[in-house]
Amino acid sequence: MKKIALITSGGDSPGMNACIRAVVKTCLHYKITPFGIFDGFQGMIDGRGFEMSYLDVDNIIQRGGTILGTARCKEFMQVEGRLKAIAYLKSENIDGLVVIGGDGSFTGAYHLGQEMNIPIIGLPGTIDNDIYGTDHTIGYDTALNTVMEAVDKIRDTAASHHRIFFIEVMGRDAGFIALNSAISSGAENVLIPEKHMDIEKLVRDIKIHNKGRRGSIIMVAEGDEWGGAIELMEKVKPFLPDYDLRYSVLGHIQRGGSPSAWDRIIATKMGSYAVELLMNGDTNLMVGIQGDNLVTCSIEQGIKENASPNLNSIKLLAKLRTK
Ligand code: ATP
Repeated sequence: MKKIALITSGGDSPGMNACIRAVVKTCLHYKITPFGIFDGFQGMIDGRGFEMSYLDVDNIIQRGGTILGTARCKEFMQVEGRLKAIAYLKSENIDGLVVIGGDGSFTGAYHLGQEMNIPIIGLPGTIDNDIYGTDHTIGYDTALNTVMEAVDKIRDTAASHHRIFFIEVMGRDAGFIALNSAISSGAENVLIPEKHMDIEKLVRDIKIHNKGRRGSIIMVAEGDEWGGAIELMEKVKPFLPDYDLRYSVLGHIQRGGSPSAWDRIIATKMGSYAVELLMNGDTNLMVGIQGDNLVTCSIEQGIKENASPNLNSIKLLAKLRTK
């Protein structure tokens, strides 16, 4: 193992830089050349890589986003695109590849692994936490904290004006952020893609819960069955004529920002471990963290199995609504 390439791909997430730093520094420790490629799979197709030094990763552990950039690359979804990427990796004499990204990036990495004999390790970098085989993905903890801080602020207004706020958070296919931010923010209810919510029941809960109270918070994953916070609010409005209903869509503030301590820790551990796995001859594996232990499973299993949040948390929210 003389030269290891690395990319960040898909949506950026806080902690990607800490992960890049760990990959580069571990490579340097073992006298391996780290080779960063800009803008994910797109940069692999375009041939935009460079040999990295310790100076490239100086002072980046605390920075959100990714210094390598990222992209969503349609061309890579076709075999012709991937063949260009493979030709570039070969021309640069790459011996191993680290892909930091979400489930789409892992799907790309899986196909690449079928079409070339350069070993690949995937590291879960996404705020969504929707990857099988790991308790936490890099960026999820920071995103949760960002949402919690935003909801704390909105709650001040909700309570001052006796308002019910429907707050939409990221999660097209997965409700991890909505569910756990509901618990950490003391929200009254939550709507996520993984669980059906009856509108009549929601209205009933709101009426019961709001008696004598100053405002409520309902968390909504963007991919919930009713189409997000705005649509949901319009749906319940006719049933709640005496209530002041508002919505807030938190949007892209959830992605950026300085990574939390936990995200820096798992990003650093996973990044360093990826290099050692490649040195050990492993390939087509993704790294996860379960409890305090680093674990691996095949990238194929990582993309084929679903990760879903613990639905007992919905029952917990219901218990906490008791008056
Ligand atoms: P996030 O969950 O944060 O959005 P992601 O990695 O899931 O991150 P995607 O945009 O879904 O983000 O995927 C990143 C890239 O992976 C895509 O732009 C594409 O280049 C590649 N990719 C996704 N799906 C496939 C596929 N089926 N075949 C080949 N490549 C794919």
